[in-house]
Amino acid sequence: MNLERLENVLHNEPKFRLKQAKQAVFIDLISDWEQATNFPLEIRQRLNDDCPLEIEAEVLKSQRADSVKALIRLDDGLKIETVLLNHADGRNTICVSSQVGCPLGCLFCATGKMGFKRNLTVNEIVEQVLYFARLLKKQEGRVTNIVFMGMGEPFLNYESVLGAIKALNDKDGLNIGARHISISTIGVVSGLIKLAKEPRQINLALSLHAPSDDLRAKLIPANKKYPLDAVMEELNNYLVQTGRRVMIEYLMIDGFNDDKEQALELAALLRKIDPPLFFVNLIAYNPTADFQPSSTKKIFDFKKTLRDQKIDVTERYRFGQDINAACGQLAGKW
Ligand code: SAH
Ligand code: SF4
Repeated sequence: MNLERLENVLHNEPKFRLKQAKQAVFIDLISDWEQATNFPLEIRQRLNDDCPLEIEAEVLKSQRADSVKALIRLDDGLKIETVLLNHADGRNTICVSSQVGCPLGCLFCATGKMGFKRNLTVNEIVEQVLYFARLLKKQEGRVTNIVFMGMGEPFLNYESVLGAIKALNDKDGLNIGARHISISTIGVVSGLIKLAKEPRQINLALSLHAPSDDLRAKLIPANKKYPLDAVMEELNNYLVQTGRRVMIEYLMIDGFNDDKEQALELAALLRKIDPPLFFVNLIAYNPTADFQPSSTKKIFDFKKTLRDQKIDVTERYRFGQDINAACGQLAGKW
């Protein structure tokens, strides 16, 4: 799919054509300009040549039917992964990628282990959502939420991520509210500063994963560049400026960061946040390589310690592990 040339192709046509074209793509969710029957044949052909709508993908469905993974082929042959999460309450969340691979190389993450190829364009981010919007339409469903928790670090591709959010947010298009869109970051400080200034009320999630620099650096090489002090300070500025609640993501890794002591250390770190607009989301580690997930009991105890410390905490539902569609398991081979 490529919509980058859409305005060019329709440049000499009356203005309403562009509006009609966008409606066809984002509301009627057509996958071939032939289906835009309100367009003259000649324009449909030109659009099919210059702005093809087809999205090439291989699809995998989870046994539990809670998720679907698409391996999408980009124009240059590289591949990325996108996941549809069907929540029990009827919400349909699309977990989108922002980069092909990731340059940050976190040791627990399958994407990080595969290295980095390139940033995605606005079009390539939007196309991931459109792919599932089309699929859901066939089942009379719609995309309700978007999370930037697929491959890549969204704040290292800030402009394209925000460009895509603007397109997905469009009232005359998919009309997905900013409050239903979340960006997850490992703590890229420049991104926190920029997001705080955005007029759109986009949600933020911070991948913390450890309560001290020593421990965090063992998982996240980028902790050198973005140490905890700097990240927490900028998170605090973000909260002062936006007044929006953030999610603190914390992976539960067996024998690494899941002890009572570490829960207490985490509570002490988070208690400094002012205003205290946050909650902790515990994520059972999806085994990809060198680490093991914490036991259910360990997670339960960790949660209880945090609660006793008056820290709000939830646990993430485990989606689609059988198709490697869960967080951190995306490693579409290019
Ligand atoms: N780069 C961003 C967004 C993509 S990763 C970030 O790191 O936040 C999305 C989430 O998946 C992050 O919280 C990340 O820490 C988590 N994740 C990575 N590998 C994982 C794994 N193997 N099991 C569970 N979660 C993982
Ligand atoms: Fe990149 Fe996020 Fe994976 Fe780290 S966890 S390697 S930042 S995608």
